Amino acid sequence: MKRDTTQQAVVNYSHEKGSVEIREVSRPGIGEDDVLLEVANVGVCGSDLHQWTADHSWAVNYPVVLGHEFGGVIVELGDKISSWKIGDRVVSETAAIINSNSPLSRSGHYNLDPDRRGFGYGVDGAMTRYVRVPARCLHQIPDHLTFEKACLTEPCCVAYNAVVGNSRIEPGDRVVVLGPGAIGILCAAIAKLCGADVAVVGLDVDRQRLKIAEQYQCAAIIGDASSWARQIDGLGADVIIDAAGVSLALKTALELVRPGGQITKVGWGPDPLSFSLDPLVQKNVTLQGSFSHHWTIWEKVIYLLAESKLNVSPIIGGIWPITQWKEAFEKMHHGEVVKSVLKPA
Ligand SMILES: [Zn+2]
Repeated sequence: MKRDTTQQAVVNYSHEKGSVEIREVSRPGIGEDDVLLEVANVGVCGSDLHQWTADHSWAVNYPVVLGHEFGGVIVELGDKISSWKIGDRVVSETAAIINSNSPLSRSGHYNLDPDRRGFGYGVDGAMTRYVRVPARCLHQIPDHLTFEKACLTEPCCVAYNAVVGNSRIEPGDRVVVLGPGAIGILCAAIAKLCGADVAVVGLDVDRQRLKIAEQYQCAAIIGDASSWARQIDGLGADVIIDAAGVSLALKTALELVRPGGQITKVGWGPDPLSFSLDPLVQKNVTLQGSFSHHWTIWEKVIYLLAESKLNVSPIIGGIWPITQWKEAFEKMHHGEVVKSVLKPA
């Protein structure tokens, strides 16, 4: 379909540091399996910041419209779409392109398909007014769930997969979350839902964000968490969630985890390790990576959000029009807010 209408978008246009600006782009056309979504809200992800500061470790298809945490209203349907209608309120998964014939996709693990390309780096994302979305990515949300909250379904799903899918947490477990960013705090909130005692650990500069962690009834620790981790029987925490990513965090995790415990790594960091993994062997620790999410997790998380069992309001630091993306990015980058949310201008 040919369109000549344009829209403002937050565009990441090269691999140079700071290569993000508002550009006038064409409103996307859609294919027969797509819908056109009018974006209501879009969350700023740490990965959007990484592409802006050019310290990301994934390939970006420049120029690309940023934004993969979004929800909105369907305004146009592809010819083959019969299960959705104009006006449906939806959120979208992030796997914009997958190879549906790959063994991983066929077994429901399309999030791990090597051909997967996500919104905001592989294809144009949602920091604009209209975004093209394959219908298979969509999930309906109930009318009472606001888009300000619903747009954060995606980071909640990342956290859910790390804590529920890729860790085994039992009521009464002690869980340490390293890194008080949005994913870290959401991991902590979900570990609380699993019945764990949870501490969120950060640095001195994280004071503001750690206050938010306390709103989820988590202990907030600056620096050394070993006394909290060892408080019950002196052996360490059952589960460490590494939502910080830097190599040093894994070293800390190995110190804090109890023998036979688990470390789940959800944070990214491009630097090599500079320490021995022998404690992993000696303590018989399970080290598990966690990436992305899939359909079932999305349905669970939407239910938790809709029933207010998981409240994302404390992490939302403000809502900015996309034209003020820079202020929204900077506030998050400097840790003044945990999560910035944008809306079309
Ligand atoms: Zn994200």
